[in-house]
Amino acid sequence: MTPAIVAAVERVEIAIVGSGVIGSATARALGARGVPAVLLEQFDLGHARGSSHGATRIFRFSYPDPGYVRMAVIAREAWARLQDDAGEELLVMTGGLDAGPGASACAAALKECGVQHTWLAAGELPARFPGIAARPGERMLFQADSGVLLAGRAVAALHRLASRDGVSIRAQTRVLGIEPQGERVLLRTPAGEISARVAVIAAGGWNEALLARAVARVPRLTATLQQLRYFSPRTASDDWPTLIEWPAEGLNWYIVPVAGDAPGVKVAAHIRGRTVDPSAGPFSEIDRALEDEAEKYVRRRLPGLVPAGFGAETCLYTMTCDEHFVLDREGPIVVGGGGSGHAFKFGPLLGEMLADLALGKETRIPRQRFSLSRPGLSP
Ligand SMILES: Cc1cc2nc3c(=O)[nH]c(=O)nc-3n(C[C@H](O)[C@H](O)[C@H](O)COP(=O)(O)OP(=O)(O)OC[C@H]3O[C@@H](n4cnc5c(N)ncnc54)[C@H](O)[C@@H]3O)c2cc1C
Repeated sequence: MTPAIVAAVERVEIAIVGSGVIGSATARALGARGVPAVLLEQFDLGHARGSSHGATRIFRFSYPDPGYVRMAVIAREAWARLQDDAGEELLVMTGGLDAGPGASACAAALKECGVQHTWLAAGELPARFPGIAARPGERMLFQADSGVLLAGRAVAALHRLASRDGVSIRAQTRVLGIEPQGERVLLRTPAGEISARVAVIAAGGWNEALLARAVARVPRLTATLQQLRYFSPRTASDDWPTLIEWPAEGLNWYIVPVAGDAPGVKVAAHIRGRTVDPSAGPFSEIDRALEDEAEKYVRRRLPGLVPAGFGAETCLYTMTCDEHFVLDREGPIVVGGGGSGHAFKFGPLLGEMLADLALGKETRIPRQRFSLSRPGLSP
C-alpha cells in the first residue's frame, strides 16, 4: 500500500486576503515594519472585478463629518510618505468644489477642524473654473487640498513596495475557507493550507461570505454595481477641480479631473446601485438610463465638456448600514473593509491601522465607529 502523502501546512506570521487598496496598503505597512507576511489574491493583481481598479479616485478633506475631515488630513500625510517611498506622483492636487445644500455642512466640519476653505460666488467661478456653470446666485465651497489619486498606479506601487520589503504576493490564490484554530487561523487555498498567527481579511465585496463561519460578529455588507463615464474637455488648458454635488434631492454627481491614465474627465453618481453577488462578475452591462442622466447633467452643469460620453466602466461598492468602514479584530482575525464608496482616499492610513490591529496595537485614530459590534452592522 502506498502511504498517503500529507501536504505540509505552511506557517506564516500574517496572511492578508485581498489585493485591493486596503489589503495592499496593509501588506505594504507590514512589510515596512519588517513583519513577514503573505498577500493572497483570487484573481490577477490589478484586476477589474472589485473596487480598486481604474485610473483615478477623488482625494478630499471636505466631508460633512469632522471625523472624516481629521482622518483625511492624516491620510494626506500617509499619501505623501507613500509617494516619497514609491518615487512617483500618486496624488495630483487640483483643489475641489462642493455644491448644493450639503456643502454648508462640509464648510462647518472643515471650520471645526481648522481646515482652510472659501466660498466662490457664481460670478467668480467662470474666471477660476470656466468648465463649470453655477446657477444665478449659487455659491460653491472651495477647498485647496482636494485632488486626484492615480488609483491603479497607487495599488501597483503598494505591491512593489510590499514585495521589496519581503511580503510574498500570490495572485490567482483564492482563499476557500478561514478557520480560527486556538490562537492561530487556518486558511484553505487550492495550493494548500496556510496557518497564520493573524489573518487580515480585506476581501471587499467578498468579505461577508468569507467571514461567515470565521467570526462571531459577521458584518452585513452589500455589494452594489456602480458605473462611470468619461467626457472630453472642450479646451485642454482649462483648470478642472474635483466637484461633488450635495443636492437636497436627486443624484449626487461627482467629477474627477483628467490625470494619469484617465482618458477624460470622469463623471459618475454616488448612488446605491444594483445589489450584486460579486462572484457573479465581471459585470459589463451598462445602465443606459444612467448614461443618459450623466449626459443631461454634463449639459446642465459642465459646459466645458463635450456632452457625448465614452469609455463606460463598472466598479463595486461594498456598503455598510451606516457607510462607515469596518476595521476591527476578533481573535486571530482582523477585518478591513466596508469601503462604502469612499475608502480609497484613506488607503495608506487604513493599511497602517490594520497593521496595528494585526500586531495587537491600538490604532492612532479612534475606531469605535468602525467596530464590528456597532448597531445594525451584524444581522
Ligand atoms: C466607481 C467608484 C468610484 C469610487 N470613487 C472613490 C473616490 O473618488 N474616492 C474614494 O476615496 N473612494 C472611492 N471609491 C471607493 C474605493 O475605491 C473603495 O472603497 C476601495 O477601493 C475598496 O477597496 P477594498 O480593498 O476594500 O476592495 P477591493 O478593491 O474589491 O479588494 C478586495 C480584493 O479581495 C479579493 N478577494 C476577495 N475574495 C477573495 C478570496 N476568497 N481569496 C483571495 N482574494 C479575494 C478580490 O478579488 C479583490 O481584489 C470608489 C469606488 C467605486 C466603485
